[in-house]
Parts: sequence; C-alpha cells; structure tokens
Amino acid sequence: MIGTPYRGRLAPSPTGLLHLGHARTFLIAAERAANGTLILRNDDLDTQRSRSEFVHAMLEDLAWLGIRWAEGPQTNGAETGSLGPYAQSQRSSLYTATFHQLHEAGFLYPCVCSRKDLLSAPHAPHADDEDEPLYPGTCRERNLDSDEPASWRFRVTDGEEVSFRDALLGPQTFIAGRDFGDFVIMRRDGVPSYQLACVVDDAAMQITEVVRGRDLLRSTARQILLLRALGHPIPTYAHVELMRNERGERLAKRDDARSLRYLRESGLTPQEVRKMALEEIE
Ligand code: GLU
Repeated sequence: MIGTPYRGRLAPSPTGLLHLGHARTFLIAAERAANGTLILRNDDLDTQRSRSEFVHAMLEDLAWLGIRWAEGPQTNGAETGSLGPYAQSQRSSLYTATFHQLHEAGFLYPCVCSRKDLLSAPHAPHADDEDEPLYPGTCRERNLDSDEPASWRFRVTDGEEVSFRDALLGPQTFIAGRDFGDFVIMRRDGVPSYQLACVVDDAAMQITEVVRGRDLLRSTARQILLLRALGHPIPTYAHVELMRNERGERLAKRDDARSLRYLRESGLTPQEVRKMALEEIE
C-alpha cells in the first residue's frame, strides 16, 4: 500500500484490564501512526466475556498513557470517524455478508468436531502454546446433513506458503497445513470468528498497517489468505515482542499487578509506565 496515507489501529478486547504488554503494543502502534491516522476499534465480539466497565477502563487507561486516536469511541462517550460503528458487536451484518460471500465462492465447509475431538485428535500437535491446535481435516470430506449444527471452516491449500515481511521481525514464512490448518470463520453458535471479524474490519476501516502482539503471527498468515480470497489489499504488519513476567510467562489480563489501572493507582506517572512498557524490548 505504498503511497496510501497511513492508517493504523488499536484493537483491544474489553475482557479485562489492559496491562503493560498492551501498553507496549499500543505505544508502538501510536508511534508508527504519528504521521497518519490512528483508529481505536473495540473488539467486543465475544459478548459473553466483554464488559462495558472494561470498555470504559481501556479508553481511560490509554488516554492516561498519552495515546490519542482520531477515530473510534472516545472517553467522553462520543464516537468520532466516518467508518464506524467502531465496536465489533455492532458490525455483525458486515461479518454475515462476508461469510455468505466466502461460502458462495466455495472457500468454506461445515465442521461438527467438538473442542474435545480436536484436542484428542492423533494429528493435533499444539503448534505452540499461543496458537490453536492444527485442525486434522476430519470434516473436510464429510457429507454433513444440512440441519446439523456446525461451525464453518476456511479450507487452506496444504503446502501453500504464506510469506510477508514484518516491519519489526523481518521476513516470515508459514506453511498452510503445517503451521496452521483449516480455521473457523463462523462458530456453531453463529458468532463470527476473530479471523473473520478482524479481516472484515481492517479492510472496511482501510487499515494500511496492523501493529499487534507477536502471539498473532500465525493469525496473520490466516488473515492474508482470507484477504486474498476476498480480493482486499494486504496491509503491512508489525508484530511486537510480548512482555513476560519473571517466570517467562506472557502477561495475561488476570495479572492485575501489571494492569495499567494498578500501576496508575499506585502513583506511577504515565511517563514512568511508558518507560516500563518499552524498556525490556530485546
Ligand atoms: N482484539 C484482539 C486482541 O486483543 C486484537 C487482535 C488484533 O490486533 O488483530 O487480541
């Protein structure tokens, strides 16, 4: 997307308090968007886990850190920008339309495997602890009864290479069928998957660069395949190293001691928290 004005996004999920790891990713995203437009998207797709108090807290904490965004929900409750709504829970008609488009073009098939089936499948090694198990393809050739409740998967071409140059990590290559398998587009309960919603929104919001945590590298490979299937431009990507605790585990929303809220309430200044968020990057 050379020559297109830069549009970046922050896409927090309001399922808990933001922590130092989010601060790191979002500070880098804001910095990279300094000469362009920054959008805040409320990734509240998972309505079971999303809570309005976390929406409020994430906006407040990001503003406290000194991050400003031109489009999306603002701390005063208003929404700015012309490409909204900027909350995923209000965009379901777009996801449904794209689901039908992919379905009609023959990219999808129904899958009745349960989570338990997937975890016990003989060929389901965990790619790593940050990604879902490789789908063994059980339902690929099944002829399912159309009334059976099913999720819908995107069929990948085994052996296809997906390569991109990450702006922070350099060249990346993933192989479909080895590094990731057929992935869910629409869940059995009718909720669109993260992969579908993310691709639909990044395209509709004209995002030119996606900055996010390194745990989503394989999702990027999946999303590139989806973007290609839909004929959308491919943004550039910048994956940020995850922040880990003393035991080497990645920070989670339940690590309250590293939440921005806690750090703020314990008297640290935004400047001190910004320093903590950025200083350990190797
Ligand atoms: N809402 C997603 C998360 O919090 C963001 C994913 C993305 O940036 O694409 O993990």
